[in-house]
Amino acid sequence: MSYQVLARKYRPQKFSDVIGQDHVTRTLQNAIAQGRIAHGYIFSGHRGIGKTTIARILAMALNCQSQDHPVPEPCAVCDSCREIRAGNSVDVIEIDAATNRGIDEIRELREAARYRPARDRFKIYILDEAHQITDAAFNALLKTLEEPPSHIVFMMATTQPEDIPQTIRSRCQHFSFHAVRFDDIVAQLRTIAQQERIEADDEALAMLAEVGDGSMRDALSIMDQAIACCGSRLSADVVRGLVGTVASSVLEDVMDAVAHNSSEDVLRTIDRLLVEGQSPQHFARQMLRFLRNALVAKVAGSNSQLLQISSDEQARVARVAAGFSEEDLARFMQIMLRTHNELGYKQEQRFLLELGLLKLVHAQRLLPLEELLSGASTGAKTGGAATPARAAGTTSHAASRAQLGSAALRSETPMPSRAPQASSIPTSSKPGPGGDPAPPFTGPSPFEADRRRKSGPKAETAAGDELRASSELSSLRTDPTMASAVMAGTATAVALGSEVAERSSAAESSAEGLRQAVLTALENAGQHVLAHNLEEGEWSAQDAEVVVKVGMSQVLIGVALGPEPKRIIQTALTEAAKRPLKFKMISGGAAVAPKNGATAAPPANVAGARARALSDPIVQRMKEKFGAEIRTVIDHKNSG
Ligand SMILES: [Zn+2]
Repeated sequence: MSYQVLARKYRPQKFSDVIGQDHVTRTLQNAIAQGRIAHGYIFSGHRGIGKTTIARILAMALNCQSQDHPVPEPCAVCDSCREIRAGNSVDVIEIDAATNRGIDEIRELREAARYRPARDRFKIYILDEAHQITDAAFNALLKTLEEPPSHIVFMMATTQPEDIPQTIRSRCQHFSFHAVRFDDIVAQLRTIAQQERIEADDEALAMLAEVGDGSMRDALSIMDQAIACCGSRLSADVVRGLVGTVASSVLEDVMDAVAHNSSEDVLRTIDRLLVEGQSPQHFARQMLRFLRNALVAKVAGSNSQLLQISSDEQARVARVAAGFSEEDLARFMQIMLRTHNELGYKQEQRFLLELGLLKLVHAQRLLPLEELLSGASTGAKTGGAATPARAAGTTSHAASRAQLGSAALRSETPMPSRAPQASSIPTSSKPGPGGDPAPPFTGPSPFEADRRRKSGPKAETAAGDELRASSELSSLRTDPTMASAVMAGTATAVALGSEVAERSSAAESSAEGLRQAVLTALENAGQHVLAHNLEEGEWSAQDAEVVVKVGMSQVLIGVALGPEPKRIIQTALTEAAKRPLKFKMISGGAAVAPKNGATAAPPANVAGARARALSDPIVQRMKEKFGAEIRTVIDHKNSG
């Protein structure tokens, strides 16, 4: 018998076999038991968590021949069940929408849907990657969904349900799948290992689950490879070698070096890893993940549900978290996030990685400067191990700090005059906006102000406008969506300023054309606010993706970029570029500070308008809920 991959061999055949999606299976089974069968289903969620599997089980349940009606749990032995499982049922048609996305395929499907099923109760179409279907094709599909023949059931599996037109969605039952919990995956892997007579230690299983990152299929696929190369004994080292991850002890070592301000140790570690054949980008991603986990451990405790990692790593993360402040960790994460992004399209990956890690070493010395400027005492900081080093570094590292400071401190903070030796540190960042003379910063330090804001009963802070970092952090603490945004590795800006990566002029000019097209389309559609925000943003076009960095938090972006604006933008982009382009709004720094340098105090009339805007109940609610802030006020009343 030929070898069958584990993911297929152990693919659940019954609703009760599916792990981690009880909310979906229970609802579906109840609906079948009550005879309420919809004509359209949407299954959405990350890859490899059982969307297509459940679609197939549902197909079996609907067409199972063990009874003369649909059954809540398929028998798995009748002809119909077996054919569906084998993927050769005449009446259950699986279509990969990624390759059959056009109008012709859907028209064909529509034609075929008119005929009754050959043998079974229902004719079932399972559309995988359904978000890839073109708009025209969706329109064709809509015709069928509007008046579906009674024997037709559509099931759409997608990772991006928001890309499915509302008209389609409203005619379907939508189930959104959860990422499978770390513990559930480990337990399932253990069961499978036992059935396969594989000896696998706990750490190895944890490592597989970790690499799977919420996807059972990915975890099993790596287990397949591990078994293929190493036989019936799986150890953590074997798995680690396969997927090329470094041991979390190495990550902890790096953070130890950072804590002790030891740039040399950091460089040595990188050298060792690169000699061993690690890829800089891959390492940066692991570092990023590790920092994220450390930050979560700091914020929510090391046994938080938000941490889906092995107990060994949990202990390491907790140790690292104890050595740094929340601000430090957030800043580290931001630095690594940027380093990771830059590594994606740079030639000198090694240097970038080194620079990124060195920045971590320097970044923790940033705070005394802020405190110095704000006049707050250095004792306010609870940095732990790093504090003495900071004090020592205050003068000798002033130059390097000035440079790094341009990243961490915002433009309204005056920079110490640039010492000539500042350029001895290689950096990809352009000189910060702080080069221009700026009015002295008199407000409290952002972090200090944040602390006050959190402890006081909603005291208005003078520096409220500049509190980007702190509001991000506080929303991270209180808002689970924010935390999960970080979890997903989304760019969450933490007020590190505008370090603009150099881009080719060609990319810039094409981005400019797309920008105009999108802005015009939005204006024409009356989406003035979004158009304004995008206009202020930093546009870049990479391959098939247009990314706009805007001065809004990720949560606010989610609110602003609804399905309707998204469609408008998508259409404009496709027209302008003559090919489908992905559009992404991410939270970022550049828009925060005006191009000309210092954030000048708003003109008096605008200040009045700002006050009016602040008193608006919606604005207040947004402030409260999302830590939102007003960035730009256009006073139409006074200007017009
Ligand atoms: Zn059956």
